[in-house]
Amino acid sequence: MTAADHGQAGHPTRLAPAEALAFDRDHVWHPYSSALAPSQPYLVESAAGVRLRLRLPDGSLRECIDAMSSWWCAIHGYAVPELDAAARDQLGRMSHVMFGGLTHEPAISLARRLLELAPRAPQDPTQPQLAHVFFADSGSVSVEVAMKMALQVHVAEGRPRTRFFTIRGGYHGDTFSPMSVTDPEGGMHSLFRGILPEHVFAPHPPPPGADLADWERSTRELYAAHADSIAAVILEPVLQGAGGMTFHDPHVVRVLTALAREHGALVIFDEIATGFGRTGGCTIWAAEQCGVVPDVMCVGKALTGGYLTLAAVLCTGDVARRVSGGEAGGLMHGPTFMANPLACAIAGASLDLLVRNDVRAQVAGLEAGLTAGLEPARGLASVGDVRVRGGVGVIQLREPVRGRELAAYAIERGVWVRPFRDLVYTMPPFVTSAEDLATVTAALVGAVAAVHG
Ligand SMILES: *Cc1c(COP(=O)(O)O)cnc(C)c1O
Repeated sequence: MTAADHGQAGHPTRLAPAEALAFDRDHVWHPYSSALAPSQPYLVESAAGVRLRLRLPDGSLRECIDAMSSWWCAIHGYAVPELDAAARDQLGRMSHVMFGGLTHEPAISLARRLLELAPRAPQDPTQPQLAHVFFADSGSVSVEVAMKMALQVHVAEGRPRTRFFTIRGGYHGDTFSPMSVTDPEGGMHSLFRGILPEHVFAPHPPPPGADLADWERSTRELYAAHADSIAAVILEPVLQGAGGMTFHDPHVVRVLTALAREHGALVIFDEIATGFGRTGGCTIWAAEQCGVVPDVMCVGKALTGGYLTLAAVLCTGDVARRVSGGEAGGLMHGPTFMANPLACAIAGASLDLLVRNDVRAQVAGLEAGLTAGLEPARGLASVGDVRVRGGVGVIQLREPVRGRELAAYAIERGVWVRPFRDLVYTMPPFVTSAEDLATVTAALVGAVAAVHG
């Protein structure tokens, strides 16, 4: 079918669900999908609380608990009265104005809240303090900006450094600079060989509790071999998300931070997935679990509670001065939708809610429920590992997941889940009740048992 066959040109009429899905299949790209073998997405009609209302292929409606929080963003759930009110209120003033030469209250007050919440290390006076905020329009762009800051610092000081140091197993986004520091095997390095810049990858850190001596020795040797060319170390502290849902000891983060600082490189933390309480430990940031404050920090995903796309780069006064002192005279970046007022207003309301709801207690509750609920998966033959940290629960299989079958099974039990690689995982909304969480874990364990054995 072509677009013309659908007769839609210039006609904004809504299609019936079956036709809408047919058009989607023929003309709409979905993430990491093939136009030759389209991904058969489910149609979502609306969402409220922790539930999505899906229209199933037979035309019936099903309410499913969103075990994914819409790719980890919708921490307060859907149709949140406080966020809806913030959006309406801001729509009544303006939904967007440019940020060049203009500023506005939603951005200012969000920046204030972010700096107030930012990680600190009061017990360690050598740690810096985050003092400046640059707004970006997505997580990937914020990583681009963070990397550009690091490059500009060294250019400004007349000794350009061109490489970044990171650990294997990471994920930093899909635009080119983030892709270049994403895990070279799980990422897209072979596809873009010769196009992506080649950075330096330390071995994947062992899991928490394992001996770190070998990892630390080889990481130090590798760093030493490249020290003069490293502009910054970049990593996801404590939890590596889309690169494989693995956890590591805070000591790993301290080793990498110390290496960077010994050798005049910056420390960039990508807290796009880990931020806003997701990794537990009674902290808002994974950085706090490490006792480290980075020089540059990226936040995104849950920043607007999943309502709109927005990200931010926080940096220290030192970084801001060094970037600005160079020949360029400032940070050379400025997205069209920078600091979009509507997104900023919602993000401000989301941060207020985060504080008011006591996110630390919410995530501690999720951790307990996930630990108990996923435990039975350990007994399954197909399961290699079960791990939980904060609001993240992972069942790792010994084989690639049959994702579509697993998802269909879970949907029958009222749960939306999207497994990938060999991972069946959940990052539920923070507001998920104990009862709903038990439904999620039972559906995941049941789906693995039924599909993989
Ligand atoms: C999702 C993610 C990104 C990319 O964010 P987008 O908003 O998808 O561009 C970067 N880093 C981490 C750790 C992420 O989880």
